[in-house]
Amino acid sequence: MAAAPATPALPLLWGRNNLPVPYAARWSAERAAMRGVLTVRPDGRGLAYRDEAPADRDRHGVLWARLTEAQGEGRPDFGSLHTVRQRRAMFDMLCQVCGGPASRTSRGWLFLVQRPETAEESADWPEGLLSTKPPVCEPCAALAARYCPHLTDPVAVRVRKPRVWGVFGGFVVPDADGGLVPSPDDHTLPYGHSAACWFLASQLVIELTRCWSACEPFGMVGA
Ligand SMILES: [Zn+2]
Repeated sequence: MAAAPATPALPLLWGRNNLPVPYAARWSAERAAMRGVLTVRPDGRGLAYRDEAPADRDRHGVLWARLTEAQGEGRPDFGSLHTVRQRRAMFDMLCQVCGGPASRTSRGWLFLVQRPETAEESADWPEGLLSTKPPVCEPCAALAARYCPHLTDPVAVRVRKPRVWGVFGGFVVPDADGGLVPSPDDHTLPYGHSAACWFLASQLVIELTRCWSACEPFGMVGA
């Protein structure tokens, strides 16, 4: 007798219309703790927290933005990913919508990516594409394609080797008065970059490699 399939995880529902809220989405009760707690390292070579703990840095030595965890409290922000859950979903290959295991077949993990404008598209797209969006499971792929504001033209892609590439976030640099000033723009930074010591990460960036069929028609994601 075949084993019963594992019960699929379900996304949290929110509001009068029972909108599915992605596992990785940030909620309004989840607060950043940034200003006043950052300082320059005693040797002057980069950022640190005044009360820094080992968990504040990843294994590449990059400092991460602090964000409290209160999933389900307040209002969901569908356009913003939670630092910790985004990272956890990437490392553990969890579905970004329900938080359960992402879909994996012999062709790789399932990702949904936005089809680029024609100018960007090359023959081997999406090979080498950088992404901050964790994978999905099959039931959630349809939900994400329907609700995700970033996916107006979604393409399902199987990825054999999602490779940790670097971080997304912003630079925080000292000013003339000895204070620290966050740069207004967001950046992606590869691990090993010489400026990483002045960077505050908020999301993990992976590179999609050994991708299968960028032209996979949506709806055939289980192939
Ligand atoms: Zn899912």
